[in-house]
Amino acid sequence: MKCKNCSSLKVVKNGHSLTNSQVFKCKNCGHKFVEFTKGYSKQLKHDAILYYRVNGHSNIVAKQFDIPIYTLLKWVRESKEERGGDEYGLL
Ligand SMILES: [Zn+2]
Repeated sequence: MKCKNCSSLKVVKNGHSLTNSQVFKCKNCGHKFVEFTKGYSKQLKHDAILYYRVNGHSNIVAKQFDIPIYTLLKWVRESKEERGGDEYGLL
């Protein structure tokens, strides 16, 4: 586990977020962040789709959220289907 702010490896567990994701705190810079790799929270999915719609670059968004591109594209496709193909609608 690396700090997403300073890439330090001096990271400790720091409780859980509202979405029940593990929260980590960096002992080097004090930055707090959430570990997303163990399953994806609803909030992460929502944020990733929203970010993709604003940003439009799946590779950048996937990197930002630390998720595979195919997972991101699957979510986007699913959200479109849920909304009847309304590509530019709000979530
Ligand atoms: Zn840090």
